[in-house]
Amino acid sequence: MTADWQRIERLIGADNLDRLAKSHVGIIGLGSGGGFVAQSLAMSGIGHFTLIDPDILDEGNIVRHIADSRDVGRPKVEAVADLIRHRNNQAEVITIADKFESHLDALDGLDMVIVGVDNEPTKFAINEALLSRNIPAIYAGVYERGVGGDVVIIRPYDGPCYACWAQALRDEIAISEGQGGELDYGMIGESGTLEAEPGLWLHVLKVATIQADIVLNELLQGSPISEPLPGNTIIIANSSLEILEGYTNPPHSTLWVTIERDPECLVCGLKQQQASISLDELVSKDNGG
Ligand SMILES: [Zn+2]
Repeated sequence: MTADWQRIERLIGADNLDRLAKSHVGIIGLGSGGGFVAQSLAMSGIGHFTLIDPDILDEGNIVRHIADSRDVGRPKVEAVADLIRHRNNQAEVITIADKFESHLDALDGLDMVIVGVDNEPTKFAINEALLSRNIPAIYAGVYERGVGGDVVIIRPYDGPCYACWAQALRDEIAISEGQGGELDYGMIGESGTLEAEPGLWLHVLKVATIQADIVLNELLQGSPISEPLPGNTIIIANSSLEILEGYTNPPHSTLWVTIERDPECLVCGLKQQQASISLDELVSKDNGG
């Protein structure tokens, strides 16, 4: 049976649905967040997927994953690919059950990458691979015990890269829990994992839902249904969370912030500097200065 897109078409328009059907997104990390984003994007009309994750679905995953006990023992990418095809049998899905570092060519030509890994060193490696290919990315992170999370849009050399974004967010925004002292959001453990004890599926999902929606908004930029966003980062409070010092976000609320690029960033700083110098020179010539 061919998927019937009439209702989605009425909502977003035939042109936009066509744009999504032609879009090719990469999803790195098909855990609870990434798997849900993949399925949601398939249900929104995106037509081409490259799924990358070396992990096998095990019994411990299934209380926090869109795939269930029927898929235990299979690579997560294969389980999620089937879920995509069940929703949209016209979707083309490439699966890579391996580390992304061994398949960098698979990133070439992607329209956007969704990052669903919780390992900071891996995110930094993804950041460098995507910058060099000029591919935008949407990263999500879930805070300890799922009290909240954040989603950031990284547009290569237009705003921060993931490296300077992560540095700035940890330094400048005090994130602490309503009740018990500082939440060590910025403290990356020795294994490089952001979430030692990740939250409940539904708390992860709230972050992942926003991540998926932002992907659609970015892919449809320039169309009337794509909204300019008030910042490059949205912080989501599942429970009471002091995100900005002195203000506690109530449960189920969000806060948009803009994290600036670090001109000194070792990853994106130099190239951006060169680009902006030549632009500045042009502008000053135009102004006769
Ligand atoms: Zn940077």
